[in-house]
Amino acid sequence: MNVSILQRLETAGFSAYIVGGRLRNMLLGLEEDPENPWDTDVTTNALPEQVKDVFSDCRVLETGIRHGTVTVLTPEPVEITTFRKDGAYSDSRHPDSVDFSATLEEDLARRDFTVNAIAMDARGNIEDPFGGREDLNNHILRTVGDPEERFREDPLRIFRALRFMAALTTPDGERALYADSKTEAALFTCAPLLEKIAPERLCSEFYKLITGDFAGDVIREYVDIIGVVIPPLLAMKDFNQHNPYHKYTVLEHCIRAMEAVDKDRVMKLAALFHDVGKPETFFIGDDGIGHMYGHPQAGERIFRSIMTRLKADRATTDQAAALIKHHDLVFHRDRALLKRWMNRFTPELLLRILTLKEADNLATGNMSPELGDKFREIRSMILEILSEGECFSLKDLAIDGNDVIAAGIEAGPAVGEVLSRLLSLVTEGRIENTREALLSAISRS
Ligand code: ATP
Ligand code: MG
Repeated sequence: MNVSILQRLETAGFSAYIVGGRLRNMLLGLEEDPENPWDTDVTTNALPEQVKDVFSDCRVLETGIRHGTVTVLTPEPVEITTFRKDGAYSDSRHPDSVDFSATLEEDLARRDFTVNAIAMDARGNIEDPFGGREDLNNHILRTVGDPEERFREDPLRIFRALRFMAALTTPDGERALYADSKTEAALFTCAPLLEKIAPERLCSEFYKLITGDFAGDVIREYVDIIGVVIPPLLAMKDFNQHNPYHKYTVLEHCIRAMEAVDKDRVMKLAALFHDVGKPETFFIGDDGIGHMYGHPQAGERIFRSIMTRLKADRATTDQAAALIKHHDLVFHRDRALLKRWMNRFTPELLLRILTLKEADNLATGNMSPELGDKFREIRSMILEILSEGECFSLKDLAIDGNDVIAAGIEAGPAVGEVLSRLLSLVTEGRIENTREALLSAISRS
């Protein structure tokens, strides 16, 4: 598929190459997962209008046409960018001008890291003027050119560096990249410049970072850099909880929780920030132990302010915020309680809260095997309630509001109250969820 895109551009008289992540992943020896396909980036000497002509039979989005990028839907999206030389970056965000008269080598020179500055044509010939393949083989992340200069031009590259180190793996699942010493030093020196970067750009890199297999290590190593954008992480760092249940700092505990949950953006965010409210609510009680009453609510508020600062999407924010707010629920092997909570939170959210709690306990470093068993049993109970279609919400009740009115209750708030009471009786197992039993319970009350 990708080759045919290159061939179409070549047939029309242009040169075209695969660049960026897809090529990098191929050279790393990774296999593409059809469920989660890689992006395709193509670079060509065709101008955006010419690209549109070549793909006139496809839908084409003018993603960044001023910077030479269009997205061709083949139907998979392919980003095709015209070779370009970037002018000066006086605002640390966008080049003041872009020049489309560049050669391939000049185009590769404007790219951020050597491992991203490799190109391959339709016949598999590789252009690699900055030694990207050697760096890839040696697990080195290095900027093309002087790192400080490149990070000053566009400080987003600092966040991109962290995300590549967090997310790229070798075929054996090892971390693929470590910053070389000059790049590493420049990451820290230039970190304050991240304040200038458009939040949306930071957010999309941050999402990729936290879902990376090595996110934990990268956050441990580079928290001072990420903290420029997300200052509460700095308050979590080195925060001793003065509590016998917690042997780790808040940050280390949260990172461990993040490492324990599945690769899901909402779960990763919720785990990383579940205790973000602790430093603010901390006090040492008369018992000499640290307490953090109300930290889930404080955490939710702080988390929302982080996400607002990142201009993050609403759905991700709300879902992770709900988890943070409720992460102190205390679960018991109690069917009626679980049903009440399934009704209150929805089964999906309740299962996620349970997952977060389990990760939270694991991340203390001293979870007992019994507690692990308890979590597993509770999960099976919830799944069983679902699979057996047991009643836990008003819509599962065998009667509805009309039946309640027909049974003589006046239309209005009383109807809802009666239904809620019936639901409690059913979830507590005191009456059966049948029309007959419910109607006779109404007549008795
Ligand atoms: P992914 O696999 O996640 O898409 P990628 O390396 O392809 O990773 P993209 O954001 O798709 O990342 O960018 C495509 C290519 O464009 C990069 O490999 C790099 O060569 C170049 N690039 C992207 N952003 C920048 C930037 N801020 N500065 C310099 N070059 C960049
Ligand atoms: Mg890409």
